[in-house]
Amino acid sequence: MTHLSPERRSVADAAPGFLPDDEADALRAAAAGARPGLWLEIGTYCGKSTVHLGSVAEGVGSQLVSVDHHQGSEENQPGWEWHDASLVDPHTGRLETLPRARHTLHDAGLEGTVTLVVASTQQTASWWCAPIEMLFLDGNHTEEVAQHDYAAFARHLTEGAVLAVHDVFPDPRDGGRPPWHVVQRAVGSGAFEEVSVCGSLRILRRTATPFEDDVHGDGPSLT
Ligand code: MG
Repeated sequence: MTHLSPERRSVADAAPGFLPDDEADALRAAAAGARPGLWLEIGTYCGKSTVHLGSVAEGVGSQLVSVDHHQGSEENQPGWEWHDASLVDPHTGRLETLPRARHTLHDAGLEGTVTLVVASTQQTASWWCAPIEMLFLDGNHTEEVAQHDYAAFARHLTEGAVLAVHDVFPDPRDGGRPPWHVVQRAVGSGAFEEVSVCGSLRILRRTATPFEDDVHGDGPSLT
């Protein structure tokens, strides 16, 4: 179930993005342990991790939704470390990753399994109401947005569902802190327990403990 065909692996490898092979393998293994249903990825970029998740989703009959505004994070903008000039749209002068992501999904043959949502996570959170069996948080890594994405979408995970968080660096010398703060928040609340670690990828599982302010029925927290 966690196997990726050579054809899809070459498509994923060719897609620009930031996902080491061992973390990609761990992500597929985690997905294979999730119940079939609706899976959600936050942060599509050019679709590299979407191929890994989507391949497992297809195998078990899940649908994968992947959300991205497709204009890149701060670190992808001109003048920043992770900028790729080939992804700039001459019409807008801005980074534009949607065409590349669509090519990736086409080449991987996953267009029937993956639904791309082109919107900010704040927009998407305003209408999202479906239960989620697998959530991969890999969007904007500012503290504000990382915390927002966790609070807005992790609350929709069913008991036993899988939460994967990427770019988790407990040591600030290794990378930014917000995803680590999200993991600390999730485990500290009792609503999640840690299952495994591979590189900067953390796999958690939803417990029976109510999600934060759901305890009081206060509705979504957008902090
Ligand atoms: Mg990432």
